[in-house]
Amino acid sequence: VEAHAIAVDLGGTGLRAARIDRFGNILDRLEVATKAQAGADAVLEQISELVDSIIKNASDARILGVGVCAPGPLDTKRGIALSIPTINGFDNYPLLAKLQECLALPVVLENDAIAAAVGEWKFGAGLGSENIVYVTVSTGIGGGIIADGKVLRGRQGMAGHIGHMIVVPDGELCNCGCRGCFEAYGSGPAFAARAKIRANQGNQTLLGKNNAKIDCPAIFAAAKAKDPLAIELVREEAEILGRGFTSLAHLFSPDLIVMGGGLANEFDCLIPAILKNFRANSMKAFQNIPIRCSILGGSSGLIGASSLLFEQFHTPK
Ligand SMILES: [Zn+2]
Repeated sequence: VEAHAIAVDLGGTGLRAARIDRFGNILDRLEVATKAQAGADAVLEQISELVDSIIKNASDARILGVGVCAPGPLDTKRGIALSIPTINGFDNYPLLAKLQECLALPVVLENDAIAAAVGEWKFGAGLGSENIVYVTVSTGIGGGIIADGKVLRGRQGMAGHIGHMIVVPDGELCNCGCRGCFEAYGSGPAFAARAKIRANQGNQTLLGKNNAKIDCPAIFAAAKAKDPLAIELVREEAEILGRGFTSLAHLFSPDLIVMGGGLANEFDCLIPAILKNFRANSMKAFQNIPIRCSILGGSSGLIGASSLLFEQFHTPK
């Protein structure tokens, strides 16, 4: 029988699980809303139920174990969730030990953005490259780095928190508690917040017309309908991202930068201005680094987590 991995992606809103083969193919997939307010035990029970359901559907396979990815900061060297800002009850929580106990299978634990970077590296936009910077832009900004053909993990396995590069001194308050972080300017909520303020300043715009909700999809839709304010807002967002990507290019000299997360759904809309800004701000020798859209989309973390599990536990017979 073929060996398969189960991957679990623990997010602040959705909890997803999948059965995946060693070629990165998703064979089965389930998703529930995370009980983010109910405490760690309730969430562990949800994970356990999802894994059980997937195992029930997998009579044709041998399950190697479970690759779990979760938001950080996560000390993956010790298997401890230091805090998960979007889910209650995970402060200094021994996540790896608890998962091993309740799943009774081998478990690999990884930071979600690092897992997504691995997924894109092994099976997605970064296939064949040795140096990749993966950036996810959604409710926050996260990242993962592949350098010299290896996953960059750093102290406590926490490398790649690129959303918290400080880009403005004493700037906007970030979700992390610090001020002026890249995330506090470039994330989806920051983008939408800017749009709300500007739409309320009496600018001529479709945004917020008839009390319509001003969120990221609304801004992109208005920009596509040639709304001048929305076009300006999209250009500004792309400039913020382009500046961030410039710093990342200078730091890591990747073969390519891969953009994922919710805002990557509008990659085509953002990329002209991202590239323009990236090239205007970076040193000449870095200007030709490609910036590509994630290929695996919302599955990059799941596929990366499964790949890490195969790497650690699969010994082909
Ligand atoms: Zn921050």
